[in-house]
Amino acid sequence: MERVPYWNISFGLLIDLLSIPAMAIFVYGLYRHWKRIKQGRSRIRLGIPVSALKIGPLYVRSFLANGIVGTRIYKKLFTGIAHGCLLWGMIILTIGTTLVFLNVLFGLPVFKGDFNRWFMGATLDAAGVAALVGVLFLLMRRVFPPERLTIFKSNSAFITIEVVIAVIIVTGFLVEGVRIAQTGPDPGSFVGNALALLLVNVALPEIHRYLWWIHGLIAISLIAYIPYSPLVHLVLAPINAGLDTPVPGPKMGVIDFEAFEGEGEEVPSLGLSRLADFQWKNLLDASTCLQCGRCHEVCPAAQTGKSLSPKGVMVTLSEYLEQGKMEDDSVLEAISTDAIYSCTTCAACMEACPVSVNQPNAILGMRQHLLMERSEIPDIMGQAHRSLEARHHPFIGTGFGPNDWRKGLEVPIFEKGKTEYLLWIGCSVAYEERTQKITRAMVHILKTAGVSFGILEENRCTGDPAKQMGNEFLFTEIAGQNIEEFNELGVSSVITMCPHCFNSFTRHYPLLGAKFAVIPHAVFIRDLIDKGAIRLSKGTETICYHDPCYLGRHNKVLSEPRQIVDAVGQLVEMPRSGNESFCCGGGGGNYWTEEEGTRINQTRALEALDTEADTIATACPFCMLMLTDGLKKHTEEQKVKDIAELVSSRMEV
Ligand code: SF4
Ligand code: SF4
Repeated sequence: MERVPYWNISFGLLIDLLSIPAMAIFVYGLYRHWKRIKQGRSRIRLGIPVSALKIGPLYVRSFLANGIVGTRIYKKLFTGIAHGCLLWGMIILTIGTTLVFLNVLFGLPVFKGDFNRWFMGATLDAAGVAALVGVLFLLMRRVFPPERLTIFKSNSAFITIEVVIAVIIVTGFLVEGVRIAQTGPDPGSFVGNALALLLVNVALPEIHRYLWWIHGLIAISLIAYIPYSPLVHLVLAPINAGLDTPVPGPKMGVIDFEAFEGEGEEVPSLGLSRLADFQWKNLLDASTCLQCGRCHEVCPAAQTGKSLSPKGVMVTLSEYLEQGKMEDDSVLEAISTDAIYSCTTCAACMEACPVSVNQPNAILGMRQHLLMERSEIPDIMGQAHRSLEARHHPFIGTGFGPNDWRKGLEVPIFEKGKTEYLLWIGCSVAYEERTQKITRAMVHILKTAGVSFGILEENRCTGDPAKQMGNEFLFTEIAGQNIEEFNELGVSSVITMCPHCFNSFTRHYPLLGAKFAVIPHAVFIRDLIDKGAIRLSKGTETICYHDPCYLGRHNKVLSEPRQIVDAVGQLVEMPRSGNESFCCGGGGGNYWTEEEGTRINQTRALEALDTEADTIATACPFCMLMLTDGLKKHTEEQKVKDIAELVSSRMEV
């Protein structure tokens, strides 16, 4: 027998009519979010060139991958599967309900033949089961929460919502079971048919009617409630993902200082100190945050007992936003200077966030305010910063001059119109005895391969440490000088040995007018090996590779250094590697800091040591120094090497 829609129900269309005020309440709730978010500013230039298809302000790849498919959710397998079951189950059930409505209104033939059996019956029942299993799993996780959910704040509203969703699904099945018990089996409805067998003695038409209205009214109320609850992430998360460019890393852009030169106008303060200063994307981030704590769990600062928690930052911002405290500058104190400077800018939080929140962007914005407006900076970092201002490099206490690294070595100077590549030295491979060996190894490789390269007569920093510490002004000044010199020399291709230099050159310099290509040494060396320009003898030594955050997560250079390691020895992976790698602790200017509590570099060094590899390889001078220092606590062996050193020592002449 063909199913009769709204069987046993009088005025069933009322439910559908009630969806109109429910939608109005829903839309008003979203409007309230939009009103809050649009109070933010858009003052920082973010013209980062990306290749992904862009429609208006939306990036299609991020929107589809992180907003619709939700790829990051599945990084936690069971939670991800539960979330996927619930989300897609509910979406399919909503489609089924809409088809019933269209059948009632327009006679759409959905209760006929195979479509009825396989979609309206089997698929909808399977979707209901999946959604129920998903929601019960998530409910149990809320009742017995992991630390990440409770730290700083637990979003208890999720429990209510999950109970309500479970009630909607269960009442839906009961309605189906009671109906089938009275009208006979429905093809394909395996849950409804099974329940009908159990309910045959209680399947009264009154019970069916009550359950039907309870089910419908709760479902309609839930729709209206979405924007006033954490469920609003269903709408905000895809938007937030679509507005998040496919370029990884915090995407700080550069500050347009000209905006501060308007005569007679009130001069806006630098950096972020009140919500009114934040960009609207930061406010959208705060509104979208689920308080799931995935970011807290991967943050090197939070995991080693520092006062920083990216979740805590987002919780604080969202509380200020909800309370309308747009002009209240106590938000910095609420988050704390210590926390703001503890961020290593590693971007692990961004990588883990299922709803595409950019935590470091907000943190670095506040750091900019602390430094540029209040001159508040931790002691040692402050000394490094002053050294950068006065001596053009941040390596306080170094006994080396800018060119000491090449004493006794013939290194060509870049010649306009003659030299192909500029080997950029910068500061991190010049002022420490240990890292100077990386530079010398790189020179050895380039000379052996017969590459046309040269260095600048006078080494300078890219200014990246200034940017990371929050001094955008100093960074802009240094970058401007470098760009000018490069233009005068006609530099078109640059090789870097420090991922921070590479990141600055490629992410920030183009916004200031730079037009040269940049190749990290990991990629350049890998290409030399591929082309046969250098030949290596592969050894039996086991080598574990530590991904520098600014090379791996920030710029997705993950396979090339591994190919190099593989060419000289036996690659071993650490438990946290690639995109999920753990920071060495040196980023964000934290190379110059005195850490409280557990040291990040010791934690990471121990993880590397635990692999029992003979050597620990990396591709960043800061990682090299941090890991070497971190290992001191655990072993006296000098185990850390840069990939350039590994290659240089294994080259067959
Ligand atoms: S960027 Fe790294 S250190 Fe900073 S908040 Fe995120 S995970 Fe923590
Ligand atoms: S910022 Fe993202 S990862 Fe962190 S708590 Fe919020 S939703 Fe979770």
